[in-house]
Amino acid sequence: MYSTMMDFPLTVGGIMRYGTTVYGDSEVVTATEGGSRRISYAELGRRVSRLAGALRRLGIDSDQRVATFQWNNAEHLEAYLAVPSMGAVLHTLNIRLFPDQLIYIANHAEDQVVIVDASLIPLLARVLPEMRTVRHVIVVGEGDVEPLRAAGRPIHAYEELLAAESDSFAWPDVIDERAAAAMCYTSGTTGNPKGVAYSHRTAYLHSMAVCMAGVMGIGPGDRVLPIVPMFHANAWGLPYAAMLAGACLVLPDRYLQAEPIVRLIEAERPTVAGAVPTIWNDLLLHLDEHGGDISSLRLVPCGGSAVPESMMRTFWERHGVRIVQAWGMTETSPVGSMAHPPPGAAGEEEWHYRVTQGRLVPGVEARVVGDGDQVLPSDGKAVGELEVRGAWITGSYYGDDDPGKFHDGWLRTGDVGILDPAGFVTLTDRAKDVIKSGGEWISSVELENALMAHPDVIEAAVVGVPDERWQERPLASVVLRPGAEVEPEQLRAFLADRVARWQLPERWAFITEVPRTSVGKFDKKLLRKRFAEGELGVVRLD
Ligand code: ADP
Repeated sequence: MYSTMMDFPLTVGGIMRYGTTVYGDSEVVTATEGGSRRISYAELGRRVSRLAGALRRLGIDSDQRVATFQWNNAEHLEAYLAVPSMGAVLHTLNIRLFPDQLIYIANHAEDQVVIVDASLIPLLARVLPEMRTVRHVIVVGEGDVEPLRAAGRPIHAYEELLAAESDSFAWPDVIDERAAAAMCYTSGTTGNPKGVAYSHRTAYLHSMAVCMAGVMGIGPGDRVLPIVPMFHANAWGLPYAAMLAGACLVLPDRYLQAEPIVRLIEAERPTVAGAVPTIWNDLLLHLDEHGGDISSLRLVPCGGSAVPESMMRTFWERHGVRIVQAWGMTETSPVGSMAHPPPGAAGEEEWHYRVTQGRLVPGVEARVVGDGDQVLPSDGKAVGELEVRGAWITGSYYGDDDPGKFHDGWLRTGDVGILDPAGFVTLTDRAKDVIKSGGEWISSVELENALMAHPDVIEAAVVGVPDERWQERPLASVVLRPGAEVEPEQLRAFLADRVARWQLPERWAFITEVPRTSVGKFDKKLLRKRFAEGELGVVRLD
């Protein structure tokens, strides 16, 4: 027996129509050099129609890809809404990728149009000539477009295009909810970056999940500040979730340093802000030195890499701000788990849960798999590779097989850890970063966390390096607080109280900053390379 319910598609157009009408009074705020600019969701809705009209006039039809090369701002949000709602596919390009990767990705996705922020023209100009399928470039804001001309593609001014269109666009009546709405590329396991295509349905369901109380609990009273870029895993789904919930959005544009972020928080009083741990670490240092009021924040979802416990505790103790760890991947839309402790867990018991990668959100299932692809028990003890499946998890890559990433209908995450019976995930490493010392595994994340609890340590990255006796041993690269004088022996003694003796690193390096990937994670590949090339100035303790 089938149900009697309507087969009503869940689409980004539905999110857009709801947010811009029912919550037409909510607003999008964008940071500028000298304050904020703001626009209501109702007005945004009219501009979204105009953008769709302009794109159609440039020939965008059916499921063609429209790329963005933008910061987090109102115009980027307009593309987020207009492109999928007209039936085309939004492709958010990561502005921090190497030129070769950007060219590969734009050609692979066959992007037809690129919308670029004027401040990013020099970056786009380097790669545009080789983006073979791009027919038009649309520039948002004022800037010198000369560098783009060499590519010989028509260049349009965003506002001029919008001015020529009307406030109402003939949105398609029916869009298949399984059709692609947006895409993002990720590093995959081997070779070239891999494309993940999100459907309308997954965007809708993921937004609803993000709004659940057990996840981020976003509602109409919230003001949401995605610091995580809109070109990285959909800014963790925050833009669509905010629209669906009627929450206001506060967007930092290119002002991502600690000082302007604190100013933005003080002026716009966001209640929820999402960013990777590095950003919060910088913010903490800034607040220590210059002060500032970030008390408007009720919740800070944080992930992308392991969130140091010491940082979470300091934010809570000094600023009353609650950082909640979350886990996810580009392949998982991205939210997969969120570390809210179970009701009733208080004091230190609460921290037992807070330091995990979190509890699975509804719609996502997980298991851990050991050697020989054997499924291990979710007993909080068995360590293996985490595999996930669910309503917003990718089941393949766009136009590029990577069978090694999929296993009997599950996605292999490349993350190693444990799962407990209550659905809490604890990761000890990425598979490629695990340190294999003798027959034993050492968790780089655990050592980093323990080191970052030292008051003079700002950051620490641990990688495995070749060792004659043990095959691999940990090397700790540490960034000290300015002016701090600490010897490797002291750090090792500090660690000795926190981790097993055989895990203590012998090799130590003091560095000025930990190198980062394009999405702000520790670049361990580069650290291993620097070590191999003798660039780290390593001290060896016996
Ligand atoms: P990339 O693979 O290019 O780094 P993603 O941003 O999709 O791109 O990265 C996803 C990965 O980030 C996860 O597989 C995991 O290794 C890591 N990650 C995300 N959140 C956390 C977290 N809270 N703790 C530890 N690692 C995390």
